Amino acid sequence: MDIKVICPNCGAEIEKDSTRCPYCGYINVEGAEKKFLSDLDEIDRNIKETKKEPVKALAKGFTGGTKTILITVTVLLIIAILIVVELFRETRDEPKLFMSADEQAYASAYVEQTGEPSEE
Ligand SMILES: [Zn+2]
Repeated sequence: MDIKVICPNCGAEIEKDSTRCPYCGYINVEGAEKKFLSDLDEIDRNIKETKKEPVKALAKGFTGGTKTILITVTVLLIIAILIVVELFRETRDEPKLFMSADEQAYASAYVEQTGEPSEE
């Protein structure tokens, strides 16, 4: 990293690994080549990792589409709520059956015992 070379354009001392001369912007071929190769290496590594973990890549894709999924889920949820509300309304519209005296006594006893209304 500390090795210096002379910029062929302006003659300034620049780092051997730098891609450009910081003074004149001249492209340091040796440094640029090194960076290019290391970039290629990283791309190659990324491709290999993606191939190795297709599930992970798929999950990444899902993360990208999170907004779409959220909208879909919200719409489905609204539809589900509407269906439940409709069913609840239908149930309430049914004529209420009165309990017999025995059943009422049983229900009262049940409520006293558990503190919860009987579901009969
Ligand atoms: Zn230079």
